[in-house]
Amino acid sequence: MNRAPNGLRFDTIAVLGAHDHAAALEARGSICEPLDFGPAQHFGSAEDMRACLAGETDGWVYGRIGNPTVQNLEVTLASLETYGSSIEGEAAATASGMFAIFAATSPFLKIDSQLPGSANIVVSAGCYGGTYMLFHERYQGDRGVEVRWVQPSAPAEVWADHIDAGTRFIFVETPSNPGLALIDVPALAKLAEQHSLPLIVDSTVATPALHRPLSQGADIVVHSASKTMSANGLSIAGALIARKNIRSRVGPEKLRENFARYVKNTVLREIGGTLSPFNALMTLTSLRSLRTNVDNFSASAERIAQFLNEHDAVESVQYPGLPGEFHALACRDLVLVDAEQAGKPLNRFGSLISFRPSGGPDAAFRTLDAMKLFWRANDLGRVKSTATIPAIATHGQLDESARLRATVPADLIRISIGQEHTDDLIADLDAALAEAST
Ligand SMILES: *Cc1c(COP(=O)(O)O)cnc(C)c1O
Repeated sequence: MNRAPNGLRFDTIAVLGAHDHAAALEARGSICEPLDFGPAQHFGSAEDMRACLAGETDGWVYGRIGNPTVQNLEVTLASLETYGSSIEGEAAATASGMFAIFAATSPFLKIDSQLPGSANIVVSAGCYGGTYMLFHERYQGDRGVEVRWVQPSAPAEVWADHIDAGTRFIFVETPSNPGLALIDVPALAKLAEQHSLPLIVDSTVATPALHRPLSQGADIVVHSASKTMSANGLSIAGALIARKNIRSRVGPEKLRENFARYVKNTVLREIGGTLSPFNALMTLTSLRSLRTNVDNFSASAERIAQFLNEHDAVESVQYPGLPGEFHALACRDLVLVDAEQAGKPLNRFGSLISFRPSGGPDAAFRTLDAMKLFWRANDLGRVKSTATIPAIATHGQLDESARLRATVPADLIRISIGQEHTDDLIADLDAALAEAST
Protein backbone atom coordinates (compact mmCIF):
# COMPACT_ATOMS: atom_id res chain seq x y z
CA MET A 1 0.00 0.00 0.00
CA ASN A 2 1.11 3.55 -0.80
CA ARG A 3 4.53 2.80 -2.27
CA ALA A 4 6.31 5.97 -3.37
CA PRO A 5 7.24 5.85 -7.05
CA ASN A 6 10.91 6.27 -7.75
CA GLY A 7 12.97 7.58 -10.64
CA LEU A 8 9.97 7.98 -12.96
CA ARG A 9 8.98 10.99 -15.08
CA PHE A 10 6.33 13.49 -14.01
CA ASP A 11 3.45 12.15 -16.13
CA THR A 12 4.21 8.58 -15.09
CA ILE A 13 4.12 9.52 -11.40
CA ALA A 14 0.86 11.43 -11.92
CA VAL A 15 -0.75 8.43 -13.64
CA LEU A 16 0.69 5.69 -11.42
CA GLY A 17 0.40 7.57 -8.14
CA ALA A 18 1.24 5.30 -5.25
CA HIS A 19 -0.75 2.41 -6.73
CA ASP A 20 1.64 0.01 -8.44
CA HIS A 21 1.17 -3.59 -9.67
CA ALA A 22 1.77 -5.05 -6.22
CA ALA A 23 -0.75 -2.65 -4.65
CA ALA A 24 -3.29 -3.57 -7.34
CA LEU A 25 -2.87 -7.27 -6.59
CA GLU A 26 -3.51 -6.53 -2.90
CA ALA A 27 -6.72 -4.78 -4.04
CA ARG A 28 -8.18 -7.75 -5.96
CA GLY A 29 -6.44 -6.58 -9.13
CA SER A 30 -8.05 -3.16 -9.43
CA ILE A 31 -5.89 -0.89 -11.60
CA CYS A 32 -7.65 2.12 -10.08
CA GLU A 33 -6.93 3.04 -6.46
CA PRO A 34 -9.66 1.50 -4.30
CA LEU A 35 -12.02 3.95 -2.64
CA ASP A 36 -11.80 3.12 1.07
CA PHE A 37 -14.86 4.62 2.69
CA GLY A 38 -14.60 2.75 6.01
CA PRO A 39 -14.08 5.04 8.98
CA ALA A 40 -11.79 2.72 10.98
CA GLN A 41 -9.02 0.19 10.44
CA HIS A 42 -9.36 -3.38 11.76
CA PHE A 43 -6.23 -4.84 13.41
CA GLY A 44 -5.14 -8.47 13.56
CA SER A 45 -4.37 -8.21 17.27
CA ALA A 46 -4.35 -5.81 20.19
CA GLU A 47 -0.56 -5.67 19.89
CA ASP A 48 -0.84 -4.66 16.19
CA MET A 49 -3.26 -1.94 17.24
CA ARG A 50 -0.93 -0.68 19.97
CA ALA A 51 2.09 -0.59 17.62
CA CYS A 52 0.15 1.32 14.95
CA LEU A 53 -1.29 3.83 17.40
CA ALA A 54 2.18 4.34 18.87
CA GLY A 55 3.42 5.19 15.37
CA GLU A 56 5.76 2.17 15.26
CA THR A 57 4.07 0.65 12.19
CA ASP A 58 2.26 2.11 9.17
CA GLY A 59 -1.50 2.27 9.19
CA TRP A 60 -4.34 4.74 9.24
CA VAL A 61 -6.31 3.84 12.39
CA TYR A 62 -9.32 6.14 11.98
CA GLY A 63 -10.67 8.26 9.15
CA ARG A 64 -9.94 11.60 10.77
CA ILE A 65 -6.29 10.59 11.29
CA GLY A 66 -5.70 8.81 8.00
CA ASN A 67 -7.25 6.89 5.13
CA PRO A 68 -5.62 4.66 2.47
CA THR A 69 -7.19 6.56 -0.47
CA VAL A 70 -6.17 9.92 1.01
CA GLN A 71 -2.67 8.54 1.64
CA ASN A 72 -2.45 7.60 -2.05
CA LEU A 73 -3.11 11.24 -2.92
CA GLU A 74 -0.59 12.46 -0.33
CA VAL A 75 2.21 10.24 -1.65
CA THR A 76 1.44 11.32 -5.24
CA LEU A 77 1.39 15.04 -4.39
CA ALA A 78 4.67 14.81 -2.44
CA SER A 79 6.31 13.04 -5.40
CA LEU A 80 5.08 15.64 -7.90
CA GLU A 81 6.02 18.62 -5.73
CA THR A 82 9.59 17.33 -5.14
CA TYR A 83 9.99 16.08 -8.72
CA GLY A 84 13.41 16.66 -10.26
CA SER A 85 15.08 17.40 -6.92
CA SER A 86 16.67 15.34 -4.17
CA ILE A 87 14.33 16.88 -1.60
CA GLU A 88 12.47 14.50 0.65
CA GLY A 89 8.94 15.81 1.02
CA GLU A 90 5.79 14.68 2.74
CA ALA A 91 2.22 15.83 2.11
CA ALA A 92 -0.85 16.29 4.29
CA ALA A 93 -4.14 16.42 2.38
CA THR A 94 -6.90 18.62 3.77
CA ALA A 95 -10.62 19.26 3.25
CA SER A 96 -9.95 22.46 1.29
CA GLY A 97 -7.19 24.81 0.21
CA MET A 98 -8.14 27.18 3.02
CA PHE A 99 -7.72 24.43 5.60
CA ALA A 100 -4.29 23.65 4.11
CA ILE A 101 -3.33 27.30 4.62
CA PHE A 102 -4.64 27.23 8.19
CA ALA A 103 -2.82 23.94 8.90
CA ALA A 104 0.42 25.24 7.34
CA THR A 105 0.44 28.46 9.36
CA SER A 106 -1.35 28.05 12.71
CA PRO A 107 1.32 25.77 14.31
CA PHE A 108 3.75 28.74 14.14
CA LEU A 109 1.44 31.04 16.09
CA LYS A 110 1.89 29.42 19.49
CA ILE A 111 1.49 31.71 22.47
CA ASP A 112 4.77 31.16 24.30
CA SER A 113 6.34 33.56 26.79
CA GLN A 114 9.76 32.07 25.98
CA LEU A 115 9.55 33.46 22.43
CA PRO A 116 10.83 37.03 22.02
CA GLY A 117 8.96 40.01 20.55
CA SER A 118 5.28 40.28 19.76
CA ALA A 119 3.97 37.74 17.26
CA ASN A 120 3.76 38.92 13.65
CA ILE A 121 3.72 37.42 10.18
CA VAL A 122 5.15 38.82 6.93
CA VAL A 123 2.81 38.27 4.01
CA SER A 124 2.65 39.19 0.32
CA ALA A 125 -0.16 41.69 -0.30
CA GLY A 126 -0.95 39.85 -3.53
CA CYS A 127 -2.79 36.92 -2.01
CA TYR A 128 -6.11 35.14 -2.31
CA GLY A 129 -9.11 36.80 -0.63
CA GLY A 130 -9.70 33.85 1.70
CA THR A 131 -6.08 33.99 2.83
CA TYR A 132 -6.45 37.70 3.51
CA MET A 133 -9.53 37.03 5.66
CA LEU A 134 -7.82 34.20 7.60
CA PHE A 135 -4.77 36.33 8.35
CA HIS A 136 -6.49 39.69 8.84
CA GLU A 137 -9.64 38.60 10.69
CA ARG A 138 -8.81 35.31 12.40
CA TYR A 139 -5.10 35.80 13.17
CA GLN A 140 -4.85 39.59 13.62
CA GLY A 141 -8.42 40.34 14.70
CA ASP A 142 -9.07 37.32 16.95
CA ARG A 143 -5.57 36.43 18.13
CA GLY A 144 -3.63 39.70 17.99
CA VAL A 145 -1.02 38.44 15.53
CA GLU A 146 0.13 41.46 13.53
CA VAL A 147 0.03 40.96 9.75
CA ARG A 148 2.77 42.89 7.91
CA TRP A 149 1.82 43.21 4.24
CA VAL A 150 4.55 43.59 1.64
CA GLN A 151 4.05 44.32 -2.06
CA PRO A 152 5.01 41.23 -4.10
CA SER A 153 7.43 43.24 -6.26
CA ALA A 154 9.31 44.68 -3.26
CA PRO A 155 13.05 43.94 -3.21
CA ALA A 156 14.45 41.60 -0.55
CA GLU A 157 15.65 44.57 1.60
CA VAL A 158 12.04 45.75 2.00
CA TRP A 159 10.93 42.26 3.04
CA ALA A 160 13.87 42.19 5.48
CA ASP A 161 12.73 45.49 7.03
CA HIS A 162 9.44 43.86 8.04
CA ILE A 163 11.10 40.96 9.90
CA ASP A 164 11.94 41.19 13.60
CA ALA A 165 12.33 38.92 16.64
CA GLY A 166 8.57 38.32 16.80
CA THR A 167 8.15 37.18 13.18
CA ARG A 168 6.83 33.61 12.86
CA PHE A 169 6.76 32.97 9.10
CA ILE A 170 6.89 34.49 5.60
CA PHE A 171 3.89 33.68 3.38
CA VAL A 172 3.66 34.36 -0.35
CA GLU A 173 1.50 33.39 -3.33
CA THR A 174 3.11 33.06 -6.78
CA PRO A 175 1.64 33.71 -9.29
CA SER A 176 -1.02 35.50 -7.27
CA ASN A 177 -4.76 35.17 -7.81
CA PRO A 178 -6.05 37.37 -9.43
CA GLY A 179 -3.19 39.92 -9.67
CA LEU A 180 -0.77 37.47 -11.35
CA ALA A 181 2.23 38.92 -9.51
CA LEU A 182 5.27 36.69 -9.17
CA ILE A 183 7.54 36.33 -6.16
CA ASP A 184 11.29 35.79 -6.26
CA VAL A 185 11.24 32.62 -4.14
CA PRO A 186 15.04 32.01 -4.02
CA ALA A 187 15.63 35.60 -2.79
CA LEU A 188 13.05 35.22 -0.02
CA ALA A 189 14.35 31.73 0.85
CA LYS A 190 17.77 33.30 1.50
CA LEU A 191 16.15 35.84 3.79
CA ALA A 192 14.15 33.11 5.54
CA GLU A 193 17.39 31.18 6.08
CA GLN A 194 19.12 34.20 7.66
CA HIS A 195 16.23 34.64 10.09
CA SER A 196 15.38 30.96 10.78
CA LEU A 197 11.89 31.48 9.42
CA PRO A 198 9.75 29.10 7.40
CA LEU A 199 8.94 30.31 3.88
CA ILE A 200 5.44 29.16 2.93
CA VAL A 201 4.35 29.39 -0.72
CA ASP A 202 0.81 29.11 -2.11
CA SER A 203 1.49 27.50 -5.48
CA THR A 204 -2.13 26.85 -6.47
CA VAL A 205 -2.02 28.85 -9.71
CA ALA A 206 1.25 27.36 -11.00
CA THR A 207 0.86 23.72 -9.85
CA PRO A 208 3.94 21.46 -9.78
CA ALA A 209 3.61 21.09 -13.57
CA LEU A 210 5.04 24.64 -13.87
CA HIS A 211 6.82 25.53 -10.63
CA ARG A 212 8.14 23.59 -7.65
CA PRO A 213 9.08 26.13 -4.94
CA LEU A 214 10.57 23.54 -2.55
CA SER A 215 13.46 23.14 -4.99
CA GLN A 216 14.02 26.94 -4.77
CA GLY A 217 14.36 26.84 -1.00
CA ALA A 218 10.76 27.13 0.23
CA ASP A 219 9.93 25.10 3.35
CA ILE A 220 6.25 24.44 2.79
CA VAL A 221 4.05 24.59 -0.32
CA VAL A 222 0.27 24.87 -0.02
CA HIS A 223 -2.32 24.12 -2.67
CA SER A 224 -5.96 24.45 -3.30
CA ALA A 225 -6.29 21.07 -5.01
CA SER A 226 -9.83 22.20 -5.90
CA LYS A 227 -8.42 24.18 -8.83
CA THR A 228 -6.12 23.17 -11.73
CA MET A 229 -5.17 19.94 -9.96
CA SER A 230 -8.85 18.95 -10.20
CA ALA A 231 -9.45 20.26 -13.71
CA ASN A 232 -12.51 18.02 -14.05
CA GLY A 233 -14.06 20.08 -11.28
CA LEU A 234 -15.71 17.43 -9.15
CA SER A 235 -14.47 18.22 -5.65
CA ILE A 236 -12.90 20.56 -3.09
CA ALA A 237 -9.53 19.56 -1.65
CA GLY A 238 -6.30 21.03 -0.35
CA ALA A 239 -2.80 19.96 0.58
CA LEU A 240 0.43 21.10 2.11
CA ILE A 241 3.76 19.60 1.16
CA ALA A 242 6.76 20.21 3.41
CA ARG A 243 10.40 19.29 3.12
CA LYS A 244 12.07 17.56 6.05
CA ASN A 245 13.82 19.73 8.67
CA ILE A 246 12.12 23.03 7.97
CA ARG A 247 13.33 26.32 9.42
CA SER A 248 11.28 27.48 12.39
CA ARG A 249 11.77 29.57 15.50
CA VAL A 250 8.83 27.70 17.03
CA GLY A 251 9.11 24.08 18.18
CA PRO A 252 8.75 21.31 19.11
CA GLU A 253 11.59 19.53 17.28
CA LYS A 254 9.04 17.15 15.71
CA LEU A 255 7.46 20.14 13.95
CA ARG A 256 10.80 20.95 12.28
CA GLU A 257 11.76 17.36 11.45
CA ASN A 258 8.63 16.38 9.57
CA PHE A 259 6.11 19.22 9.42
CA ALA A 260 3.51 17.37 7.30
CA ARG A 261 3.52 14.44 9.73
CA TYR A 262 3.29 16.87 12.66
CA VAL A 263 0.25 18.54 11.07
CA LYS A 264 -1.45 15.18 10.53
CA ASN A 265 -0.83 14.22 14.17
CA THR A 266 -1.97 17.55 15.59
CA VAL A 267 -4.07 19.94 13.49
CA LEU A 268 -5.86 17.25 11.47
CA ARG A 269 -6.20 14.78 14.33
CA GLU A 270 -7.42 17.33 16.87
CA ILE A 271 -9.23 19.97 14.80
CA GLY A 272 -10.41 17.81 11.89
CA GLY A 273 -10.35 19.34 8.43
CA THR A 274 -9.51 15.95 6.99
CA LEU A 275 -10.07 15.29 3.29
CA SER A 276 -12.86 12.87 2.39
CA PRO A 277 -11.64 9.71 0.60
CA PHE A 278 -14.14 10.34 -2.20
CA ASN A 279 -12.71 13.79 -2.88
CA ALA A 280 -9.19 12.32 -2.69
CA LEU A 281 -10.06 9.89 -5.49
CA MET A 282 -11.69 12.66 -7.56
CA THR A 283 -8.49 14.69 -7.20
CA LEU A 284 -6.26 11.72 -8.10
CA THR A 285 -8.35 11.11 -11.21
CA SER A 286 -7.81 14.68 -12.44
CA LEU A 287 -4.16 14.82 -11.39
CA ARG A 288 -3.31 12.12 -13.94
CA SER A 289 -3.51 14.63 -16.78
CA LEU A 290 -2.20 17.66 -14.84
CA ARG A 291 0.79 18.36 -17.07
CA THR A 292 -1.07 18.06 -20.36
CA ASN A 293 -3.99 20.10 -18.97
CA VAL A 294 -1.64 22.88 -17.90
CA ASP A 295 0.08 22.74 -21.30
CA ASN A 296 -3.22 22.97 -23.21
CA PHE A 297 -4.86 25.61 -21.00
CA SER A 298 -1.69 27.74 -21.03
CA ALA A 299 -1.17 27.56 -24.79
CA SER A 300 -4.76 28.71 -25.31
CA ALA A 301 -4.49 31.39 -22.58
CA GLU A 302 -1.37 32.83 -24.19
CA ARG A 303 -3.22 33.41 -27.47
CA ILE A 304 -6.23 34.86 -25.66
CA ALA A 305 -4.03 37.21 -23.57
CA GLN A 306 -2.46 38.49 -26.80
CA PHE A 307 -5.90 38.98 -28.35
CA LEU A 308 -7.11 40.97 -25.32
CA ASN A 309 -3.90 42.99 -25.22
CA GLU A 310 -4.52 44.20 -28.79
CA HIS A 311 -8.26 44.82 -28.28
CA ASP A 312 -9.49 48.44 -28.46
CA ALA A 313 -12.09 47.94 -25.72
CA VAL A 314 -9.52 46.61 -23.23
CA GLU A 315 -7.61 48.99 -20.98
CA SER A 316 -4.99 46.60 -19.60
CA VAL A 317 -4.18 42.89 -19.37
CA GLN A 318 -2.25 41.01 -16.71
CA TYR A 319 -0.77 37.73 -17.86
CA PRO A 320 2.69 36.44 -16.89
CA GLY A 321 3.32 35.55 -20.54
CA LEU A 322 2.94 39.16 -21.73
CA PRO A 323 5.76 41.72 -21.42
CA GLY A 324 5.40 43.47 -18.06
CA GLU A 325 6.70 43.81 -14.54
CA PHE A 326 6.73 40.08 -13.75
CA HIS A 327 7.53 38.63 -17.18
CA ALA A 328 11.25 38.03 -16.54
CA LEU A 329 10.54 36.19 -13.30
CA ALA A 330 7.77 34.22 -15.02
CA CYS A 331 10.19 33.16 -17.77
CA ARG A 332 12.64 31.95 -15.13
CA ASP A 333 10.11 30.15 -12.93
CA LEU A 334 7.13 29.01 -15.02
CA VAL A 335 8.59 26.20 -17.07
CA LEU A 336 6.52 23.24 -18.21
CA VAL A 337 7.98 20.14 -16.61
CA ASP A 338 9.51 17.49 -18.93
CA ALA A 339 8.86 19.58 -22.03
CA GLU A 340 12.29 20.65 -23.25
CA GLN A 341 12.15 21.45 -26.95
CA ALA A 342 15.45 21.09 -28.80
CA GLY A 343 17.19 21.19 -25.42
CA LYS A 344 15.46 24.43 -24.43
CA PRO A 345 12.96 24.80 -21.56
CA LEU A 346 9.36 25.50 -22.61
CA ASN A 347 7.66 28.40 -20.83
CA ARG A 348 3.99 28.03 -20.07
CA PHE A 349 2.21 30.76 -18.11
CA GLY A 350 -0.95 29.13 -16.77
CA SER A 351 -4.66 29.47 -17.41
CA LEU A 352 -5.43 32.71 -15.48
CA ILE A 353 -5.75 36.09 -17.20
CA SER A 354 -6.91 39.33 -15.57
CA PHE A 355 -8.01 42.34 -17.62
CA ARG A 356 -9.82 45.66 -17.31
CA PRO A 357 -12.29 46.56 -20.03
CA SER A 358 -12.57 50.25 -20.99
CA GLY A 359 -15.51 51.89 -19.23
CA GLY A 360 -14.97 50.95 -15.59
CA PRO A 361 -16.93 48.58 -13.31
CA ASP A 362 -20.18 48.95 -15.33
CA ALA A 363 -18.40 47.76 -18.44
CA ALA A 364 -16.94 44.83 -16.47
CA PHE A 365 -20.46 43.78 -15.40
CA ARG A 366 -21.81 44.18 -18.95
CA THR A 367 -18.90 42.19 -20.40
CA LEU A 368 -19.50 39.33 -18.00
CA ASP A 369 -23.25 39.38 -18.67
CA ALA A 370 -22.68 39.16 -22.42
CA MET A 371 -20.52 36.03 -22.27
CA LYS A 372 -22.17 32.96 -23.75
CA LEU A 373 -19.41 30.34 -23.43
CA PHE A 374 -17.46 31.44 -20.36
CA TRP A 375 -19.23 30.34 -17.19
CA ARG A 376 -19.88 33.15 -14.73
CA ALA A 377 -18.39 31.35 -11.72
CA ASN A 378 -15.85 31.77 -8.94
CA ASP A 379 -13.69 29.00 -10.13
CA LEU A 380 -10.45 28.46 -12.00
CA GLY A 381 -8.21 25.83 -13.53
CA ARG A 382 -11.03 23.84 -15.05
CA VAL A 383 -11.55 22.19 -18.42
CA LYS A 384 -14.50 24.62 -18.49
CA SER A 385 -13.54 28.28 -18.98
CA THR A 386 -14.85 30.62 -16.28
CA ALA A 387 -15.08 34.37 -15.68
CA THR A 388 -15.54 36.44 -12.55
CA ILE A 389 -15.14 39.94 -11.12
CA PRO A 390 -12.80 39.41 -8.11
CA ALA A 391 -13.87 42.68 -6.41
CA ILE A 392 -17.34 41.20 -5.83
CA ALA A 393 -16.16 37.60 -5.45
CA THR A 394 -12.83 36.31 -4.09
CA HIS A 395 -12.02 39.77 -2.69
CA GLY A 396 -15.62 40.83 -1.98
CA GLN A 397 -15.16 40.64 1.80
CA LEU A 398 -12.20 43.04 1.79
CA ASP A 399 -12.63 46.76 2.42
CA GLU A 400 -11.56 49.01 -0.43
CA SER A 401 -8.08 49.87 0.83
CA ALA A 402 -7.24 46.19 1.43
CA ARG A 403 -8.62 45.31 -2.01
CA LEU A 404 -6.52 47.96 -3.70
CA ARG A 405 -3.42 46.91 -1.73
CA ALA A 406 -4.03 43.44 -3.18
CA THR A 407 -4.22 45.19 -6.60
CA VAL A 408 -7.81 44.15 -7.24
CA PRO A 409 -9.54 47.18 -8.84
CA ALA A 410 -13.35 47.17 -9.05
CA ASP A 411 -13.33 46.76 -12.85
CA LEU A 412 -10.98 43.77 -13.01
CA ILE A 413 -12.27 40.68 -14.83
CA ARG A 414 -10.50 37.40 -14.18
CA ILE A 415 -10.88 34.61 -16.71
CA SER A 416 -9.64 31.05 -16.49
CA ILE A 417 -9.01 29.30 -19.77
CA GLY A 418 -10.05 25.68 -20.16
CA GLN A 419 -10.23 23.10 -22.88
CA GLU A 420 -12.77 24.66 -25.31
CA HIS A 421 -11.29 25.61 -28.68
CA THR A 422 -9.34 28.88 -28.48
CA ASP A 423 -11.14 30.35 -31.53
CA ASP A 424 -14.53 29.88 -29.86
CA LEU A 425 -13.33 31.51 -26.64
CA ILE A 426 -11.86 34.47 -28.54
CA ALA A 427 -15.12 34.90 -30.48
CA ASP A 428 -17.08 34.84 -27.21
CA LEU A 429 -14.84 37.52 -25.65
CA ASP A 430 -14.88 39.62 -28.81
CA ALA A 431 -18.69 39.58 -28.96
CA ALA A 432 -19.01 40.29 -25.22
CA LEU A 433 -16.62 43.24 -25.37
CA ALA A 434 -18.48 44.62 -28.42
CA GLU A 435 -21.86 44.27 -26.71
CA ALA A 436 -20.54 45.86 -23.48
CA SER A 437 -19.21 48.91 -25.28
CA THR A 438 -22.43 49.74 -27.19
C1 LIG B 1 -9.04 28.86 -4.30
C2 LIG B 1 -7.75 29.25 -3.70
C3 LIG B 1 -7.47 28.98 -2.35
C4 LIG B 1 -8.50 28.34 -1.44
O1 LIG B 1 -8.74 27.02 -1.79
P1 LIG B 1 -10.15 26.26 -1.50
O2 LIG B 1 -9.88 24.88 -2.00
O3 LIG B 1 -11.20 26.99 -2.25
O4 LIG B 1 -10.35 26.31 -0.03
C5 LIG B 1 -6.23 29.32 -1.86
N1 LIG B 1 -5.31 29.92 -2.64
C6 LIG B 1 -5.54 30.21 -3.94
C7 LIG B 1 -4.48 30.86 -4.74
C8 LIG B 1 -6.77 29.89 -4.51
O5 LIG B 1 -7.00 30.18 -5.80
